[in-house]
Amino acid sequence: MERRNAWLSYKEADENEMEKLNRAYREFLNKGKTERECVTEIVKQAEAAGYEALEAKISRGDKIQAGDKVYAVGMKKIVALFHVGTEELSKGMSILCAHIDSPRLDIKQNPLYEDTDLAYLDTHYYGGVKKYQWVTLPLAMHGVVVKKDGSVVDISIGEDEDDPVLYITDLLIHLAGKQLQKKAAEVIEGESLDILIGSRPLADLPDDKKKEAVKQNVLKILNEKYGIEEEDFLSAELEIVPAGKARECGLDRSMIAAYGQDDRVCAYTSLAAMLEMNETPKRTGCCLLVDKEEIGSVGATGMQSRFFENSVAELLDGMGCYSELAVRRALRNSSMLSSDVSAGYDPAYSEAFEKKNAAYLGRGIVLNKFTGARGKSGSNDANAEYVARVRKIFDDHDVAFQTAELGKVDFGGGGTIAYIAALYGMEVIDSGVAVLSMHSPWEVTSKADVYEAYKAYKAFLLEA
Ligand code: MN
Ligand code: MN
Repeated sequence: MERRNAWLSYKEADENEMEKLNRAYREFLNKGKTERECVTEIVKQAEAAGYEALEAKISRGDKIQAGDKVYAVGMKKIVALFHVGTEELSKGMSILCAHIDSPRLDIKQNPLYEDTDLAYLDTHYYGGVKKYQWVTLPLAMHGVVVKKDGSVVDISIGEDEDDPVLYITDLLIHLAGKQLQKKAAEVIEGESLDILIGSRPLADLPDDKKKEAVKQNVLKILNEKYGIEEEDFLSAELEIVPAGKARECGLDRSMIAAYGQDDRVCAYTSLAAMLEMNETPKRTGCCLLVDKEEIGSVGATGMQSRFFENSVAELLDGMGCYSELAVRRALRNSSMLSSDVSAGYDPAYSEAFEKKNAAYLGRGIVLNKFTGARGKSGSNDANAEYVARVRKIFDDHDVAFQTAELGKVDFGGGGTIAYIAALYGMEVIDSGVAVLSMHSPWEVTSKADVYEAYKAYKAFLLEA
């Protein structure tokens, strides 16, 4: 039972729409290299599409009614959009969910040091990374430094052509005989992922500061450019990511190579589908874009937090029909596509996949009935009845889709956020876009899959 390749079904109109969507997707990736930057861009696009902050509406005492488009944001890192339908909210919502955090290197709270005339920042990696992939690349720093007076300094270094980039060194091949005997997990160790940020000493320093003249120069630049001091690192969130823009990939330009496609490819296509829903739906549509998936969906901005539940409670209250039971019913009666990337079948590593149940680039959005590791540990296992409903929606709307598992049964695995949403008793299935080299600095997706995911989400919002 082989699934069709989406490319073969495209007419000119499809191709134009697909290219337009993929251009907008690349723009989104360029603007959103951190979860905070993603939320900023999502809110900007939502407001342009007529969405308004739920909090603002509530504080004005406006009643929320069918046709209203509202959004809620938590700590600038998690966001939920609602397009209120004509049906009672307690009958449930159609929810598109994805995550906007990606693997990266975070700057430690006390990061800056100098060693032998070179200045460095210490990092702590976030999410699952093959550490050896992060050396000898042009890197950028994105994030915020919050000063004691509460003012927030936005930082973005390394993206403009005129910006300097940052860098992590590796040992030259000529001297690497011993290093190359090590296991791949140990070739580059986490504590060695230090960012090289300077080599020029500051002149005319007092004697006690002379041995840190390069560090002193870095601090001087930071102070001149951003008004920050060394202690301000204590209250900063600075993320090191690959520098550079998302690119088309392949001579046929059929793919996208970019950082952070896990899971911004699902987040962006969900958002685009949501923002294009112009007419008031029957069932309330929702797009929930969450943080912290890569470290277990923990914290106030992860899927395990009460953010979503609280937002739904506020929404019901704004409609004048809040009750504890109404919240529970709204959640229980909902249907969700919990979208996250799938492992794309890679012929170079065919031994990791079972070919009949793998996800292939170009064959459309992927449905994972279950995820998890080994004996489905940590998985949500979508109800067969629900899978049938979802595949009917996709077929009725001519969406190319495929089904897959994450690699061979005993090879490993991974979970995502579906099981957390499922705790409410709602229908939820893992779905998403296939990716090559997942969690690497530059991941690869198929433009056709990006387009089919977007089509799938539009169909889901209409029919689920
Ligand atoms: Mn993911
Ligand atoms: Mn991931």
